[in-house]
Amino acid sequence: MRPIKICVLEGDGIGPEIVRQAVRVLKAACDARQIALYFNYALLGGAAIDVAGTPLPDATVAQCKASDAVLLGAVGGEKWDSLPSALRPEKGLLGIRSALGLYANLRPATIFPALQSASPLKEEIIRAGVDILVVRELTGDVYFGEHARKQENGYETGYDHMQYSTFEVGRIARNAFELARKRNRRVTSVDKANVLETSRVWRETVTRVSQDYPDVALNHMYVDNAAMQLVRNPAQFDVLVTGNLFGDILSDEASMISGSIGMLASASLGDGTLGLYEPIHGSAPDIAGKGLANPLATILSAAMMLRYSLDLPELADAIEKAVESALDVARTADIRDPALPVYSTDEMGGFVAGKVKELLEK
Ligand code: NAD
Repeated sequence: MRPIKICVLEGDGIGPEIVRQAVRVLKAACDARQIALYFNYALLGGAAIDVAGTPLPDATVAQCKASDAVLLGAVGGEKWDSLPSALRPEKGLLGIRSALGLYANLRPATIFPALQSASPLKEEIIRAGVDILVVRELTGDVYFGEHARKQENGYETGYDHMQYSTFEVGRIARNAFELARKRNRRVTSVDKANVLETSRVWRETVTRVSQDYPDVALNHMYVDNAAMQLVRNPAQFDVLVTGNLFGDILSDEASMISGSIGMLASASLGDGTLGLYEPIHGSAPDIAGKGLANPLATILSAAMMLRYSLDLPELADAIEKAVESALDVARTADIRDPALPVYSTDEMGGFVAGKVKELLEK
């Protein structure tokens, strides 16, 4: 196998400390299979503003494009909050996703057995198992249509133009069906086709694409019902695919089922295999540099990288299993359990890396 090149964007706040642990775990997994791995570090967010005067330097885009995958910590912090919006760290995030042509955002919502009590849902609801992959379209919908204000009948009135083309829906639908083939072969497509024309285009297109995937079961659900079903019976979902607006809301709802922000991974993918992998939480400036940050969301994002960009599912499985074992042995402060020792960021990363090595060398 040819050497793998990963571009690392540590970002701000806890970014560098959590990314360091994910890099350590990736190295442990690849070493165990004699796979050569190279890490290239580039600047993003506040760290880039301090050095280069912009949240997304051209050199960062070039380094990401020359890599097989991108690992990102988080960006932002009070230091940069008063800058004009075009210069804010978050612009770097949106900019890198668009520069890399990433249009599918993947967020798994699962409950680790050891963390069941952290879920806000009742035990009898989650007992059936929760393993959902929310696939949200990232580049279209009402967020990217025309925004305007007009005086109408004497009142100031806001307009946001909602649109989706068959091209945009077709490519995200294909993504969802391909992902379902690597999972439990079920896709739920969420829209509001009883009211919105955009959603009727969405539904027709997803149905058309589904004909190329006869081995994957498709059902359609209105977004209001989906919001209800996610908390009533989350076990019914495998892959849930939806547009930018509905996905924004439903992916947050689904991730809350797991109950702890320090555990939630994500991936952004485009047409090729290059993807960007990051935890869903922010840069947590309140705990930065104190060894308190939970590195597991970033480590689980690295597992997604192995599965979706690098086609190394065996290594991804090993990391996920190692995280599960770690939760039985110790906890970071954010998910503490009175019966278990509290590990620092570094101790947790070290435990998972050691477990990954042990699992792969068995
Ligand atoms: P946050 O996610 O950084 O923190 C929210 C709370 O969760 C804090 O109490 C924090 O200590 C805790 N927390 C977050 N991650 C944790 C982890 N891994 N381990 C333990 N505890 C953790 O959200 P915020 O406080 O609203 O934002 C802080 C900064 O992060 C802001 O500048 C914001 O703009 C930025 N932000 C960045 C991203 C990103 O880079 N993708 C996402 C959200 C917020």
